[in-house]
Amino acid sequence: MGFLSANVYFFIGVIVMAIIDFLLPHHYLEEKICRKQNIIDRKLLSTGFVVTLGLIIHNFPEGMAVFLSSFTNVRLGILLAIAIAIHNIPEGIAVAAPIYHATLNKSKAIKYAFISGMAEPLGAIISYLILKP
Ligand SMILES: [Zn+2]
Repeated sequence: MGFLSANVYFFIGVIVMAIIDFLLPHHYLEEKICRKQNIIDRKLLSTGFVVTLGLIIHNFPEGMAVFLSSFTNVRLGILLAIAIAIHNIPEGIAVAAPIYHATLNKSKAIKYAFISGMAEPLGAIISYLILKP
């Protein structure tokens, strides 16, 4: 049953990402930034934006998971927070690398990695606000 629901939610995630990629005007944003800064690689920048958005969507429930597990068992919450913190390193690299290589701008790459990472505490805070009453 767990295997089935994991696969169902995986493919729902794939479909949601495809819809977001189709609906968001990232090509327009990309061209605007390119004209401003003489961007080298538009496709790479587009990839960076899609990965950023995908990881924002991905990190939000992770923050909720850390909060909810900490809420029921502090030891489990700490372990989960450490595990998620470790796996956030390659996720941050996945956001920063394409944006850096497309723009050659380190602060922009770090900014987008930071924004995607902030979805996690936001998920935890929203979980707290929902469960508070
Ligand atoms: Zn993650």
